[in-house]
Amino acid sequence: MAGEKILLADDEPRMLGVLTEFLEGQGYLVHAVPDGVQALTALQAEEFTLALLDLQLPGLSGLELLSHLKTHSPETEVILFTGHAGLESAVQALRLGAYDYLLKSDLLLPDLQAVINRALERRRLDQTNRSLLENLRQAQEELARRRTAELTQIRRIGEALAGPLTGEQIIQGMLSLIWESLPLSVLGLELRGGGEDLPREAYRRQPEVEDASLEAFHSWLQEQLDGWPPHWTGTPPPEPEILETPLPAMLLASVRAGEVRGLVAAGRDTPFTLEESELFHIFSLQGEAAFKNLVLFEQVKSLAIRDGLTGLYNYRYFWEVLHREVELSRRYRHPLSLLFLDIDDFKKVNDTLGHQVGDLVLKALGTYLPGAVRQADLVCRYGGEEFVILLAETESREARISAERLRQGISQITVPLPDKELHFSVSIGVAELQPWMDGDNLVKAADAALYRAKQAGKNRVCGS
Ligand code: GH3
Ligand code: MG
Ligand code: MG
Repeated sequence: MAGEKILLADDEPRMLGVLTEFLEGQGYLVHAVPDGVQALTALQAEEFTLALLDLQLPGLSGLELLSHLKTHSPETEVILFTGHAGLESAVQALRLGAYDYLLKSDLLLPDLQAVINRALERRRLDQTNRSLLENLRQAQEELARRRTAELTQIRRIGEALAGPLTGEQIIQGMLSLIWESLPLSVLGLELRGGGEDLPREAYRRQPEVEDASLEAFHSWLQEQLDGWPPHWTGTPPPEPEILETPLPAMLLASVRAGEVRGLVAAGRDTPFTLEESELFHIFSLQGEAAFKNLVLFEQVKSLAIRDGLTGLYNYRYFWEVLHREVELSRRYRHPLSLLFLDIDDFKKVNDTLGHQVGDLVLKALGTYLPGAVRQADLVCRYGGEEFVILLAETESREARISAERLRQGISQITVPLPDKELHFSVSIGVAELQPWMDGDNLVKAADAALYRAKQAGKNRVCGS
């Protein structure tokens, strides 16, 4: 192609002159030199498309120039001239990467032109090839970079949501990760079910999103949750007319863990890519997994502190709380009372009606008692058919009134059996914490009062 630079090196001035004239006539820019040293200087100074080199050059041979070129500017194509004597070297030159060689003795200019054209064509193909390879390499790198970024995100969310977290921490962690990973206008989460301390909703929005738009998004998400299971989750709905969405592009994911039901929704004006949608769902799934852990953790915790039959707190938990409450009551001089409650003639129930009926009686008490005391009071199954109720901020006079109310309430409980309705009674001992007492003494005092109630004929309340 015209305008391309050719280095021409030959020590025969006539040859150099003819070739220069011929090549310039073809439109090439020719740099002609008579020896190897000047050729090397030229090669070091500038880049040539093609080098036409005589194999036998004074100073530096064509072969030496060739190996220099292949190391320093491998894109320059090389064609060598040789006499018959240099044929062996010419073959060696081809191995070293020369494009072709021509015999000086029968050099025809059209042949030279043809060889040059082919060499330049190969160079162009090589260049195209190289740029294709470079594009491919860049695309692969970009893909790898994006995968790494995604995996980093996934790892981050894994780490952020894997530890023992509260519901609030899971919700905030999940929303933060989604919010930081995807460009969104609005992001929201609505929850139902689960423990009382679980937050019910959380939202994020860009500053330019107006209150009214957020409110619309909020009501929409609540509606979706009311209509559980949601109409769609996953990629945006294919036909928008089927479901009106508060923003043109939406992503929705459901969260289910035990009693917890929730929806996470993200919205913006421009459509989501498949990758964004996938990332959103990975985050939501991780959030769901964290909720499942939380639910499991709560269950295990409750197993450890609750009695399996009645669902009331157990003996171990009672003592834990008792020590704490006694301490607090002492420090702040607040009254504290304890009721010790024992079912009357329970052995008879077991013996005449069977152990299973006995269990029904215990369960009935387990259901009744927590609803019959104040929120702050602690009801525990102490063991067998004995129960304790710790009354915070309560003096013995009030405690006895409460105990009497409980005794009467319990006498009204009906346990339905196939052939009859069963009633039962309890005796209750009451004690108030005195300045000289610890938790142990308080329990003993209430137990002693209970003993007196039993001695006095059962179904009654006795104070210490
Ligand atoms: P009192 O009126 O003096 O309290 O007599 P009681 O029969 O109620 O008391 P006692 O201590 O003699 O018997 C308690 C019985 O409670 C004995 C035991 O078999 C029964 N019991 C303890 N735990 C359970 C339980 O989990 N289920 C059932 N069905 N019975 C139990
Ligand atoms: Mg007993
Ligand atoms: Mg008893």
